[in-house]
Amino acid sequence: MMIKAAIVPRMGKDAIESIAVEEVELAEPGEYEARIKIMTCTICHSDIHALNGEHGAYEGPGIAGHEISGVVDKIGSRVTYVKPGDRVLCTEIRAGCGHCTPCLRGHTWFCENIPPMSFRVPSPYTRKNGEAITQTCSGASGFAEYTNAHENMLCKLDEDIPFEIGSALACGFMSGFGAVLNRCRIKPGESFAVVGCGGVGLSAIMGARLSGANPIIAVDVMEVKLEAARRFGATHTINPKTQDPMAELRKITGEFSAGTGKGEPYGADHSLVAVAGRGIKRLAFDLCAKWGQTVIVGHELWENEFMSDINAMELLFGKRITGSVMGAVELRRDLPIYMDFYRRGLVDIAALLTNRFPLDDIKEALQDSLHGALKNVVVIG
Ligand SMILES: [Zn+2]
Ligand SMILES: [Zn+2]
Repeated sequence: MMIKAAIVPRMGKDAIESIAVEEVELAEPGEYEARIKIMTCTICHSDIHALNGEHGAYEGPGIAGHEISGVVDKIGSRVTYVKPGDRVLCTEIRAGCGHCTPCLRGHTWFCENIPPMSFRVPSPYTRKNGEAITQTCSGASGFAEYTNAHENMLCKLDEDIPFEIGSALACGFMSGFGAVLNRCRIKPGESFAVVGCGGVGLSAIMGARLSGANPIIAVDVMEVKLEAARRFGATHTINPKTQDPMAELRKITGEFSAGTGKGEPYGADHSLVAVAGRGIKRLAFDLCAKWGQTVIVGHELWENEFMSDINAMELLFGKRITGSVMGAVELRRDLPIYMDFYRRGLVDIAALLTNRFPLDDIKEALQDSLHGALKNVVVIG
């Protein structure tokens, strides 16, 4: 059917300058797919990176948006999880088949039976001139009136959870919050440091606060982000542009008083880095105690993420470094729990949302995100 969608004619540098809403053809949903009438899609910086061509050499017209909430409109013949009328959120990870070896071991990310839900070429969208459109970031597209999504990408959205909260849950929130709950596993009273206080970093702070972390140290080069971090629960902030991070860390966590480490800061029991970049990861690792764990959430291109400046001797006493993608969540186990945290006021997901734009103003919405808006909402349905 013909629907409206926001398309860039060619992915690459500054593509969002040329983004425009146009009528495109959306194919019928496949046998395992649901068609979703999109209500909201929040903007993630991954959308901007993808449209700018930073996720790989995808050319041609592209469509983005992957933090999707809406209502199931139609289902394929083999769909069992949802029915028309169901409220859902749609993510770029999958729930897994539930019966292959990785799924049975709780690692649905590696499901053998359902393909990863990343770039899709060709997508079910076609321009009026017949050009195929590439879907970026996800096997569904949120900057459109409708999308087709594999049912495995869906999680039912409870009746009392607003669509825009579902959208924020679907990527940004769970990437930071989930990483803290599933990877850091903080014990009450342990210290936590986060480097990068955008939407993901602030969501990590919410996870640390809920876990009972103390102190919670927020690190960013933008004062406005450090102010936000304090609102979300950071007890201390460090701006590496104006402060020496290790000196500040020493004041906050205390320091060794004996042995070869005399004068060195204890460091945080847990650190998490929520932005891409090599020097930034080194900083997160240095903020972490010799017995602690650093969790890497922000990633860039593969070739830019080598960490050859870590000496194995630094790991001698059990210091660990690990990664997390999409909060390491089990989609249908964790998201209902996060919805309940929201319902009970334990996490303030609404405070992550900045400005709201109709689909026709998608360019302004993306530009506003580029200029520091935390998380903008494209209101579609
Ligand atoms: Zn995202
Ligand atoms: Zn599986």
